[in-house]
Amino acid sequence: MKIAFIGLGNMGGGMAANLVKAGHEVRAFDLSDEARAAAQGNGCAVFDDAKEAVQGVEAVVTMLPNGEIVKAVLENEVFGHAPAGAIVLDCSTIDVATTRALSEAATAKGYLMVDAPVSGGIAAANGGTLTFMVGGTGEAFARAEPILAAMGKAVIHAGDAGAGEAAKLCNNLILAATMIATCEGFRLAEKLGLDPQVFYDISSKATGQSWSMTSYCPVPGVGPQSPSDNGYKGGFASALMLKDLKLAMEAAETSGASTPLGRHAKDLYEAFAAEHGALDFSAIIKSL
Ligand code: NAD
Repeated sequence: MKIAFIGLGNMGGGMAANLVKAGHEVRAFDLSDEARAAAQGNGCAVFDDAKEAVQGVEAVVTMLPNGEIVKAVLENEVFGHAPAGAIVLDCSTIDVATTRALSEAATAKGYLMVDAPVSGGIAAANGGTLTFMVGGTGEAFARAEPILAAMGKAVIHAGDAGAGEAAKLCNNLILAATMIATCEGFRLAEKLGLDPQVFYDISSKATGQSWSMTSYCPVPGVGPQSPSDNGYKGGFASALMLKDLKLAMEAAETSGASTPLGRHAKDLYEAFAAEHGALDFSAIIKSL
């Protein structure tokens, strides 16, 4: 298939490369010269703007930082420029209301659209083992599924438009709370004289185990390779985690859900991201 890919950052770069590996013709765009050059090295054709990248495609994938940017890119550079009948797959994490409004706008312009946010981090984006949670009609899901399968190990239909984003926000509320708890556990273990590797060997096989511990350990040199081993660079920026927690708290407020731990995690990431927003979210261990 001919697929446009817009947003070639920490996540999108690897995802676009996996579409190329699966045999698709990928027409890529990012504002960053560096990201475009890397995509070209991975076999994508790169363009000077998104309007050009979406010419003649059957599908458009977006992997952008936030809802305002996704809205601007889709409304100004995709709708009316990509061929009618194309499917739009927004893999960014954004709020449910914006994704539902964009889905309606896409339908009105003759496109199919799914929200298909991801879980898994950069290792999974590079390795093609992401989990996609998908919102959209049955017809849109059927069109999106084979494209997403080339970038992931699981593609799950969560429900109608917005359901994928709803699942993602709930997932990241859990992720933020378990990351902070994992950091606290390691810090306390250290104060009590435990070797971090020994504590990892125990807790990773005990009931304290979680993805934050065994796939993304916040302590350098412990567990598999993760951003902590790279000075907390790359990975999932604390500013993006804060964005997700704010969206989750807005959703909790409007739906009347009680999320006291999520709120506390949001406050802690707000304080941390004010100074270290570009660092990976596991760097919050530095604040403890
Ligand atoms: P990133 O900042 O590394 O990448 C975003 C890219 O979008 C950048 O390269 C930027 O130059 C580009 N961009 C911004 N505005 C643009 C525009 N108008 N046109 C074209 N390109 C533009 O972010 P990321 O870590 O890749 O995250 C992307 C999305 O995925 C976010 O919504 C994030 O919440 C979500 N996400 C990230 C992770 C992770 O581990 N990093 C995991 C799951 C979900």
